[in-house]
Amino acid sequence: MSLTRIATFYDPEEAYCARSFLESHGFEVCLLNEHHLTANPAFRVALGGFGLAVPTTDAESARQALREIETGPEASPPDACVSCGSTDLVRARRMSWLPLALMSGVPFLPLQRARKCAACGKRVQD
Ligand SMILES: [Zn+2]
Repeated sequence: MSLTRIATFYDPEEAYCARSFLESHGFEVCLLNEHHLTANPAFRVALGGFGLAVPTTDAESARQALREIETGPEASPPDACVSCGSTDLVRARRMSWLPLALMSGVPFLPLQRARKCAACGKRVQD
């Protein structure tokens, strides 16, 4: 079985994420230089980084799977207000959770994240 290098990463976190992504899609993945660069991180550039290699027969489909990551999620948050069409969206701050958190002594964060149109004030869910 011959391996083909399909990607190179200089950050180990990126390399591990890409490897896990491909493994979760059923690819057999080998991370080149993994142990050497873990022991000697200063050699990342000299050794060409963390290479992601798959069997040659799977190389093109693995590259296609990695391109799906680069294009981003399919459902991106709206970039314009649905009411007036303005693109000036700011993060909406809802502070109703703050008194409850202070009284109970249990800190927690609000579950919803939303943006608000700066022009008309309409809330836009992410
Ligand atoms: Zn608006």
